[in-house]
Amino acid sequence: AAERIAGKTVLITGASSGIGESIVHQLAAAASGNIRLIVAARRQSRLEALKKQLQDQFKAIEVLPLELDVSDYKQIPSKIASLPKEWSKIDILINNAGKAQGLDHVGEMKIDDVEGMYFTNVIGMVTLTNTIVPQMKERNSGDIVMIGSTAGWESYPGGSVYASTKACLKSFTEALRKESISNRLRIIEVDPGAVETEFSVVRFHGDTDKAKKVYDGYEPLNADDISEVVVFSLTRRENCVVANSLVLPNNQA
Ligand code: NDP
Repeated sequence: AAERIAGKTVLITGASSGIGESIVHQLAAAASGNIRLIVAARRQSRLEALKKQLQDQFKAIEVLPLELDVSDYKQIPSKIASLPKEWSKIDILINNAGKAQGLDHVGEMKIDDVEGMYFTNVIGMVTLTNTIVPQMKERNSGDIVMIGSTAGWESYPGGSVYASTKACLKSFTEALRKESISNRLRIIEVDPGAVETEFSVVRFHGDTDKAKKVYDGYEPLNADDISEVVVFSLTRRENCVVANSLVLPNNQA
């Protein structure tokens, strides 16, 4: 099945840490380095280190770090248009960048946090997808992976904004799948439960004690648990779409 991703060009957002970084490693390993990866995020030093690590591991691998702040959504189309020509055909788009900074109750929220979550998780993701879909439709081929969340299925106290961004993603993804059927695009949504990454620290503005408390009473997943599902989904035969996977820690309520 690994030959199905061999030689393909992948653009992944949020590649500098957590689930995104893990997806990059798992894709590279599954393709034995025969893959081209555009790794996007804001932290360039992380992306350069990732590139070096991959090139040390796989001689043939091609990696292009891309400085991309998806919340600065107006610059997304020009950033994509200015990719070097040999990187401009995207076979697989992975919308992974996301944040849950400021999980406060309504009435206590900071509007900067609200804006950050909607601009990153929704408007940035929509703009990037809207930019890439036309070339995929023109070729009648392409895979788009959306990293959602259990929060998109069910909200909770403090999750009014974050959960609604993931519910937006779910609804957007369903429409995109229906719109793309005649073009044979595969739209793959993967919804993680709790995964231990930097995410939980960002969520509490860097308060690591608070972040750890989130996992009281259960063991979170690790990033590889999610990236393995992403790679599995991408390596099915063309007529098979793993349309939605909900991936939970076995003891998460
Ligand atoms: P991390 O915080 O480890 O990674 C988030 C990634 O998103 C980083 O690479 C970060 O890169 C990038 N990112 C954040 N903001 C922006 C931005 N404005 N522009 C570009 N990139 C950005 O968290 P996870 O790996 O856990 O999160 C990945 C996805 O998984 C998110 O969509 C999240 O909502 C989802 N998820 C996570 C769960 C969890 O429990 N961890 C549960 C369910 C879903 P940089 O800062 O360098 O820009």
